[in-house]
Amino acid sequence: MWDFSTDPEFQLKLDWIAKFVREEIEPLDRLFPGMGAPYDMENTKARAIARPLMEEVKRQGLWACHLGPDLGGQGYGQLKLALMNEILGRAQWAPTIFGTAAPDTGNAEILAMFGTEEQKKRYLQPLLNGEIVSCYSMTEPQGGADPGVFTCRAVREGEEWVINGEKWYSSNARYAEFIIVMCVTNPEVPVIKGASMFLLPKNTPGVNIVRNSGVHGEPPNNESHAYIRYENVRLPADALLGEEGKGFAVAQARLGGGRVHHAMRTVGECTMALEMMVERAVSRQTKGSRLGDKQFIQGYLADSWIELQQFRLQVLHTAWLIDQGHDYKSNRASIAGIKVAAAKVFHDIAQRAVQMHGSMGVSDEMPLANLLIRAAMIGIMDGPTEVHKMTIAKDLLRTAKPVAGPLPSANLIARTAAARAKYAGRY
Ligand SMILES: Cc1cc2nc3c(=O)[nH]c(=O)nc-3n(C[C@H](O)[C@H](O)[C@H](O)COP(=O)(O)OP(=O)(O)OC[C@H]3O[C@@H](n4cnc5c(N)ncnc54)[C@H](O)[C@@H]3O)c2cc1C
Repeated sequence: MWDFSTDPEFQLKLDWIAKFVREEIEPLDRLFPGMGAPYDMENTKARAIARPLMEEVKRQGLWACHLGPDLGGQGYGQLKLALMNEILGRAQWAPTIFGTAAPDTGNAEILAMFGTEEQKKRYLQPLLNGEIVSCYSMTEPQGGADPGVFTCRAVREGEEWVINGEKWYSSNARYAEFIIVMCVTNPEVPVIKGASMFLLPKNTPGVNIVRNSGVHGEPPNNESHAYIRYENVRLPADALLGEEGKGFAVAQARLGGGRVHHAMRTVGECTMALEMMVERAVSRQTKGSRLGDKQFIQGYLADSWIELQQFRLQVLHTAWLIDQGHDYKSNRASIAGIKVAAAKVFHDIAQRAVQMHGSMGVSDEMPLANLLIRAAMIGIMDGPTEVHKMTIAKDLLRTAKPVAGPLPSANLIARTAAARAKYAGRY
């Protein structure tokens, strides 16, 4: 049974969310801009506005909806979450106000699955309550897409682990209470089999932030992606999350969900760009008529709408597959597919939106040029587009069977001969 309708009761919640995001949260993006701003727990002015909004979301029963009821969420599943996230994608602060911000969502999943009772009490509960933020530290300066080159090392010394190495672009480390860090624990085997994950309190001696990088165009002093040098960082034995050597299995537990949630929010950003294009099309006059009366512009609008519809349905379908119980492994092509589509569709729509707005489009008076950077980010973070395309292609190739003989099975000469043989004397 295929059903594309939204249950009316849930639609009421979506309507409430849309109004709340538009009226209460979007202004926060203007007052406290920068990707890191929602994670800065020491910005008392921002927190004083944000905290009551978070309480309101909790009162409405819409807090941390990516979680099951066991962890304080609603257990809505991914499809409902997708419908919510495409609204939350419209404002940078919205995921934080709704308790669904990355990388905290994925880090919470790791802690819930692999943390000790003590770690859960100290970090998971405050994280789920939105009282602290966290960091995920995996990419290294010499490579992110190829984990095979990771060198950050953890060595067991008696009852302790000692970490040495560097990590790059560890988002929000400066604001985080704890860091989940991937380290090589067995250099004798390929990294994929010899890496492990650790829980690291940020104030542990030896966690040295070399500098924080910003994303191009961010306001100064908001840089939030840390270049970290871990120097003789000593951790107790139980800082190991999951089994030794199984760091990538732990990582997959968070990255699958993270990619899906980014794609859901990207639907919202594309929708916003399309709305701006439509408004411009009916507002700007040139050569005696509205922009929207020019066929080129109609093409931009139609292409953007079609691509967004396709992408949105692809995201919703992937969310539905997850709700049907497909795990990351069986769903990996779908997840890779929406990750790739998110970057491409977002880029193409944002590019047309900038173009239609002319000089205003590239100016810092509009949010449009920033969308282009954000589209580029989507194509890089959590693994670049090329790598996800390879995942899809490998999935297709895995079950494909080579044809016997020199002709493709769809060769028309061979097919006609087979059809003639089948219906001999009857045609
Ligand atoms: C906004 C943002 C936030 C991030 N936050 C975090 C974080 O919190 N924690 C963290 O650990 N990391 C984080 N990252 C890092 C991210 O995961 C890496 O940037 C990503 O994995 C790519 O690694 P890289 O930047 O080293 O690029 P590289 O690995 O050097 O790749 C650069 C380019 O090379 C090409 N390429 C790479 N591999 C292949 C291939 N196999 N085949 C063909 N082409 C290829 C692609 O075009 C790719 O974009 C973040 C990145 C961004 C942009």
